[in-house]
Amino acid sequence: MILAEQVVAEIRRFTGPDEANLEAGGILLGCYRGPHVEILECTTPMPLDRRTRNGFVRRDPGHQRRALEVWKVSDRTVNFVGEWHTHPEERPSPSRVDRDTWADQMGRHRDDALVFVIGGRASFYCGWGENRRLVAMAAVA
Ligand SMILES: [Zn+2]
Repeated sequence: MILAEQVVAEIRRFTGPDEANLEAGGILLGCYRGPHVEILECTTPMPLDRRTRNGFVRRDPGHQRRALEVWKVSDRTVNFVGEWHTHPEERPSPSRVDRDTWADQMGRHRDDALVFVIGGRASFYCGWGENRRLVAMAAVA
């Protein structure tokens, strides 16, 4: 999996002290290349999303709208490939709710692998979901 530098920077903006008291999140947009996925862009919190200290619920239709826009502009090569959110932790790990949510999403995207990122203050958690199984990958510094 390749995470573009600007995606890492974008997620990191929401793990800093100004934002750390509210979780943030969005979707990941990228390309599948054989067994790999390249993540090129992410969306960030929008007005209708629900951000709390211990949760992020993506509700704003703008995320989906952006995915569709990018898909069209890229001649259908850039797709929804997963999602990200932040945790108010140094080294985040998925909660029970995260695992349940991701299992649901894997069920709805059976044909493709999905990437799940949790941004923490010191490191990121990256999960790879395929065939309804979640595998933790090496964290991005
Ligand atoms: Zn979480």
